[in-house]
Amino acid sequence: MEKITDYYGSMVFDDRIMKATLSDKVYRSLKRTIDKGTPLDISVANAVAAAMKEWAVEKGATHYTHWFQPLTGLTAEKHDSFISPAPDGRVIMEFSGKELVKGEPDASSFPSGGLRATFEARGYTAWDPTSYAFIKDGTLYIPTAFCSYTGEALDKKVPLLRSMEAINKQALRILKLFGNTSVKSVKTSVGPEQEYFLVDRDMWKQRKDLIMTGRTLFGAMPPKGQEMDDHYFGSIKPRVAEYMADLDRELWKLGILAKTKHNEVAPAQHELAPIYDTTNIAADHNQLTMEVMQKVALRHGLVCLLHEKPFAGVNGSGKHNNWSISTDQGENLLSPGETPAENAQFLLFLAAIIKAVDDYQDLLRLSVATAGNDHRLGANEAPPAVISIFLGDELTAVLDAIEKDVPYGGTAKEKMKLGVDVLPQFSKDTTDRNRTSPFAFTGNKFEFRMLGSSNSISCANIHLNAAVAEVLMQFADKLEKAKDFNKALHDLIRKTIKDHKRIIFNGNGYDDAWIAEAEKRGLMNLKTTADAMPHICDKKNVEMLTSHGIFTEAEIFSRRDIMLENYVKTVNIEATTMVDMARKEIIPAVAKFAADTASAVSVKKSVSKAACKYETKLVTELSELIDEMDTATTELETAIAEFKGIDEIIKASEFVRDTMLPAMDKLRSAADKAETVTSETYWPFPAYDKLLFGV
Ligand code: ADP
Ligand code: MG
Repeated sequence: MEKITDYYGSMVFDDRIMKATLSDKVYRSLKRTIDKGTPLDISVANAVAAAMKEWAVEKGATHYTHWFQPLTGLTAEKHDSFISPAPDGRVIMEFSGKELVKGEPDASSFPSGGLRATFEARGYTAWDPTSYAFIKDGTLYIPTAFCSYTGEALDKKVPLLRSMEAINKQALRILKLFGNTSVKSVKTSVGPEQEYFLVDRDMWKQRKDLIMTGRTLFGAMPPKGQEMDDHYFGSIKPRVAEYMADLDRELWKLGILAKTKHNEVAPAQHELAPIYDTTNIAADHNQLTMEVMQKVALRHGLVCLLHEKPFAGVNGSGKHNNWSISTDQGENLLSPGETPAENAQFLLFLAAIIKAVDDYQDLLRLSVATAGNDHRLGANEAPPAVISIFLGDELTAVLDAIEKDVPYGGTAKEKMKLGVDVLPQFSKDTTDRNRTSPFAFTGNKFEFRMLGSSNSISCANIHLNAAVAEVLMQFADKLEKAKDFNKALHDLIRKTIKDHKRIIFNGNGYDDAWIAEAEKRGLMNLKTTADAMPHICDKKNVEMLTSHGIFTEAEIFSRRDIMLENYVKTVNIEATTMVDMARKEIIPAVAKFAADTASAVSVKKSVSKAACKYETKLVTELSELIDEMDTATTELETAIAEFKGIDEIIKASEFVRDTMLPAMDKLRSAADKAETVTSETYWPFPAYDKLLFGV
């Protein structure tokens, strides 16, 4: 048996390989670029490119590609081979520093939201040396950022890197105030837990909805769903176990630290979690993980569904974005400290995050808004669409004591003064967990739980980093000017808790009472993508995002348009698929069943005096349902036609929310009713019971 340690990272041009294949001088120069962002000399780029090519060709690679993350949320790649003609008619393998550093994909067909008129299709990709190159399917992949020639970000990586830089800058100012001057950089880390469904490929092939939209648009619930809670952490079926083992192996080869795997709540639902990594690398790895998950599934006769809501009636899939901030010296700034001073620093970062989440609820909400995710948020299976923070009882009590200026835990006699008095030693791993909170503190990190399973994690982290950077900046501005640091610190934390405690909620987020309560507290409830997305252009958000250099104003407006376009196009494809399935598959199948039953009646009646009560009742019911489906389909067709005439994107998104989606629900409900009374042998595609329990 091959040992994991032998093949782990074998397809990655990582530090080990760099050290082994580059000269000392080149290696050190590259490391400076990776660690400190110093510009890369072309001679160094040439040397790195040569070494990369040698290594890749040795491993059988014939092509290279600049791999990037356009605003579709997917990844893009264009492959070039290494070959170059030699004078003697043969070929040599070539790869220059210039080709490594910069690429010029024909960018005209990627969404840019008006940032780059399509006739000037000159976008370029720039190597991101902080994320290792790797080999996949005989191609050397070079992680890159994607910009327009005027410098606008056309992807999700550039703003992500900018947001990491913003938080680095502001956090360093704060650390300095606490006397921490030796820290050189601060980075955010993310561990994204990824949920997914596996279905049998032969069944998948028979469903147009799964093929076209990634989710079932029709389907009545089978007798059994997830109510027995027997799937969660249950024993893994052999076929799934084989898939998971194969998947782990492929991910490990790519240097992705796949760590945890288990069954999830819904039947056929599973989860994979890697060990956390620096945010931009975690983002690259998560994109790659999603791709490999789907590819490996095919080898096992399976299809991996990453849609947020593949099946109505059972849980959908999300992605938990475990997020923390740490220094280059390995200190996790979200870890409660051992000493009073460390605790004061921790509490300041905690206060900053509380304020950031409260001030920018809308940005966090819209960072996860997609047509698919709208089915989860607020559907009693995922966090509600309202943002709140879970801190656990202990931390909440600590904050409460600070706010009220009373001793915490009843031990200390005097008032609690941060950084001066001995602070309570609160336990590091808060044992109380809350699975219903959108943003939960879990001991030394926050878990942002609203992301959809197919979301790129970049958007959520861009907005989270930006919001926290903004508040850290406000705090640093204040504290740097303070005459008495400890007093100013104490007052600042106290005031922050007072002003923003409305965002803290430790109860059950799935409870309707919470939504009512949240409204009273003045928290935002942005139920759909159409409601959420326009807020990115609110003055306060534009000001904040531009002031930290995360986005330009043009980039913000372009993103709103792209995300809304994505929303309306997704739903429109779903609606059109529904009409197609209803007209060509479902209605004919039910009509055939009704007709066959009706002719059975005449046959029966010709040989006996039977009343045929059952058949008559059934045919009547089927006929009514056929009419109901036909009416609903016609309504949906009308909506689709009307939608085509709406040019303005905000109007289109509102139409989708208010007219198209309700019309789809109506058709689905009629068809699902018909399914429950139609003979299985007539039903035109595999039903839920087979899909959910058929692997
Ligand atoms: P659970 O399901 O209990 O939340 P998992 O083990 O499935 O836990 O996932 C936890 C995720 O959090 C993992 O990806 C893990 O690497 C990540 N994680 C742990 N510590 C940190 C940290 N300090 N910063 C960011 N992510 C972290
Ligand atoms: Mg988990």
